Amino acid sequence: MKSLHFSGDRRKLLTGAGAIGVGSALVLALDACSTDSGGAAASETASAAPATDLKDLETAEEIWDALLEGNQRWAAGESVHPGTDVETRESLVEGQEPRAAVFTCIDSRVGPELVFDTGVGDLMVTRTAANTFDPLVSESVSYGPAALEAPLLVVLGHQKCGAVTAAHDALAAADAGEEVEEHEYALPEVVAALTPAYEAAKAESGDPIDAMIAANVLLTVQALKEHPNLAELVADGELTVVGAVYSLETGLVTEIEG
Ligand SMILES: [Zn+2]
Repeated sequence: MKSLHFSGDRRKLLTGAGAIGVGSALVLALDACSTDSGGAAASETASAAPATDLKDLETAEEIWDALLEGNQRWAAGESVHPGTDVETRESLVEGQEPRAAVFTCIDSRVGPELVFDTGVGDLMVTRTAANTFDPLVSESVSYGPAALEAPLLVVLGHQKCGAVTAAHDALAAADAGEEVEEHEYALPEVVAALTPAYEAAKAESGDPIDAMIAANVLLTVQALKEHPNLAELVADGELTVVGAVYSLETGLVTEIEG
């Protein structure tokens, strides 16, 4: 079972969970010249600075900062591909201790190890269309935090998500009284799973797909915080769940909060 892996002074990244309305979503734009722990970020030549080794990090805050540093390298075209050597691979033969779990979409443009410039053994990744989940999937998502003590879980939506777009179009057609069969490319189970996000995003202004993508991330974050395998870890401060959206255009990951 889990142990008290972390001291009590770990700062929670997310507080005041509860409201998940998209309207209150606070977008924390990533500053390319952030003064966060990373100093090494984009204003310098990232390729000249060694990547922070996630395996050395314990707190969710440190790990998230390191992932965002890696994302800035990726966005700048300066990935260093840490932990992809034979020595690292062999060092993990006897066991793994991924420092973060990532739950994201199957989209071929959103590979987490690339987007966060991480190596083998760093991330435990679960991917489904638009990060939709059911009991079987959520068990896999929770495995890293619950069984392997990964202190960070990232729910990562992405710009121009085809699954969200298809579900939106099918649900909007149904709202308009059109034949849903016209949108048969939308997978029925995925559409059903995304219906709460569609409903939550209805009241939002701006691009409806972007709003639905954000709503889906925030609803997923909330659901995972309440999952039976994770709720106690969250309550004890041993697991931080963050929501974020990836931009295909910029390559940057932006944290969002409800
Ligand atoms: Zn997608």
